[in-house]
Amino acid sequence: MGPAPIEIKNTWAAVQDHTRVFQDLVFVYPVISRRSRGLSIGINLNPDKRCNFDCVYCEVDRRTPGRAEALNLPQLGDELTWLIRYAQAGGLATQPKFDEVPELTRTVRDLAFSGDGEPTMVPNFDACVQTVVEVKRRLNLPDAKLVLITDSAGLDKTSVKRGLELMAADNGEFWCKLDAGTEAYYRLVNRSAVKFERILRNLLETAQAWPIVIQSLFLKINGAPLPPEELAAYCDRLNELIQAGGKIREIHAYTIARPTPEPWATKLSGPELNAIAATIRARTGLRVEVFD
Ligand code: SF4
Repeated sequence: MGPAPIEIKNTWAAVQDHTRVFQDLVFVYPVISRRSRGLSIGINLNPDKRCNFDCVYCEVDRRTPGRAEALNLPQLGDELTWLIRYAQAGGLATQPKFDEVPELTRTVRDLAFSGDGEPTMVPNFDACVQTVVEVKRRLNLPDAKLVLITDSAGLDKTSVKRGLELMAADNGEFWCKLDAGTEAYYRLVNRSAVKFERILRNLLETAQAWPIVIQSLFLKINGAPLPPEELAAYCDRLNELIQAGGKIREIHAYTIARPTPEPWATKLSGPELNAIAATIRARTGLRVEVFD
């Protein structure tokens, strides 16, 4: 039996501080992630901060403009190679941000497409995945997961579908956002011009092909948690996905962890989030992991 897994605390600086800038790197950044259970190398395909959602809880600072860097794949590959080698050699462990968790900084748990915007908005998502897969193979990291963290709006694009196939063939996981059960609540929380129906269709088509993780952020709006009828509708959407042949590996239920752009969007308490998770389990039979 190996050592017990280390409990990752959300009070650690390396967990709290998810800034996407590390040294002078443009496309990659290191974080300690509770959901990844250790070191996650983020791949930021959107230093320009482009997103097709405008979530009320978005932690990306949109008051300052993004960096207008064109997506440069050789540079992405070089930066990723450098950062992985730096972490493996113990470089991150010497950085003040990681000094509470040096033992977690040498093993890359995952390489996650997640950044200052929505990764599937780039026109060549498949080429981006190919670049990362090549680095992963060259550095011999078969156990590092490839993760796409997505709002699901672009999962129906041809280049994204090709990218998903490449990821699925190489230990890939798809973590897809679903925060609402109705179009009205989706508009309130995610504030996207993309129709809710398209998000649901994309989730279904992806989940019919591969098991997906659903990531759901629950919050208070003007002091009120998710209304019971909205939670019921959310569970109905999950059950419809399952009944139509979609495979859902698990739900990640979480709440706000960092300051939001909207003061009326606030964090749930631990018991409130746990109560929502219990309802989802009871109504869908799915595994729900809570990150409060
Ligand atoms: S999808 Fe992500 S990056 Fe886009 S607005 Fe929402 S939280 Fe921010």
